[in-house]
Amino acid sequence: TPVDDLTPEAAAAELERLAALLADYDRHYYEEDAPAVSDAEYDGLRRRNLAIEARFPDLVRADSPSLKVGTAPSAKFAKIRHAVPMLSLDNAFSDEDVADFARRVRRFLKLADSAPLAITAEPKIDGLSLSLRYEEGRLVSAATRGDGSVGEDVTANARTLDDIPNRLMGDAPAVFEVRGEVYMTHADFAALNERLARGDDPEEAAPAAEGEAGAEPARKVRQFANPRNAAAGSLRQKDPAVTRERPLRFFAYAWGQASAVPGATQTEVVEAMAGFGFQTNPLMRRFEDIEGLIRHYRMIEAERAALGYDIDGVVYKVDDLKLQERLGFVSRFPRWAIAHKFSAEQATTVVRAIEINV
Ligand code: NAD
Repeated sequence: TPVDDLTPEAAAAELERLAALLADYDRHYYEEDAPAVSDAEYDGLRRRNLAIEARFPDLVRADSPSLKVGTAPSAKFAKIRHAVPMLSLDNAFSDEDVADFARRVRRFLKLADSAPLAITAEPKIDGLSLSLRYEEGRLVSAATRGDGSVGEDVTANARTLDDIPNRLMGDAPAVFEVRGEVYMTHADFAALNERLARGDDPEEAAPAAEGEAGAEPARKVRQFANPRNAAAGSLRQKDPAVTRERPLRFFAYAWGQASAVPGATQTEVVEAMAGFGFQTNPLMRRFEDIEGLIRHYRMIEAERAALGYDIDGVVYKVDDLKLQERLGFVSRFPRWAIAHKFSAEQATTVVRAIEINV
């Protein structure tokens, strides 16, 4: 039924159904690292939920998917409460949406159209976000995003990644939480799935050891649907020894709690994190105009298939941290950032290209 034709009763029933359905899909995706439906289908349901809520604002449910980030942490892990919440990002699907974002930012800050406004653009890495807490330069804990407020304790697992230093280099703040994305390259993903299919991965070997002597142990062959799920499933292992065998990488692009923020802009803090010993994305740039952002988006889109890892868009962030602070947050998004998504059609092309390479 078109949203415009829905009666309030039908709308309420559908919002209830969508909340339950999307919560179920979230559990498959975030907790089991095995999506039940395609991202396109999932995103379509989320958009329909939003459209119904926009038409019937009084019917927005307390458990609405549009107010939620991720899903509750799995009982497999100890919990870590985030000192600063880990949120999601608002989406832009067109150049016009990006221009709207800049207009909203200017209006909120009461900035004239002619006043300078620097915005950064960087690839949106398709992995899972991780928060790394350093005290006196030493890694003390690592947590997944979870539901944004409480994440999963994956400290021992995170310590096995080469891209995650146990000690920060240089002059780091006494308390500093580095945030970024754990991801897997296309080549490593293909090799891992092959290994899983052969059954010679430690995760698959475990049930065999428990099998009865002489009996052929029932062995489930589990392969990952995509590099994002492979990264999440590999980091979120009970046994860190399994994670150690998985080729995971990490890009730092954000931060949480900090006793002192090492810079006055997004650009400066990312440079500082590179100085502390992290990988940062080489395609991050800073622009003073929307045209620059869009040009960079097109360039990244053109380079996409050659990057060797999945990205699903470009993230724009207001560069000046004082302005970020003034802009603050709205429900599940920062007001100072937006993700400019690639179209689904291009996503399919990339997936096909990967399959051919494999
Ligand atoms: P999101 O992934 O669209 O955006 C927020 C995330 O982007 C952040 O948490 C961060 O991890 C990540 N990110 C990557 N690079 C970044 C950068 N440079 N700067 C800042 N952040 C960066 O939002 P979401 O709420 O985490 O997840 C929604 C996505 O997950 C959608 O694409 C959806 O299709 C998919 N999903 C699919 C299913 C399914 O069943 N298929 C279920 C749930 C979610």
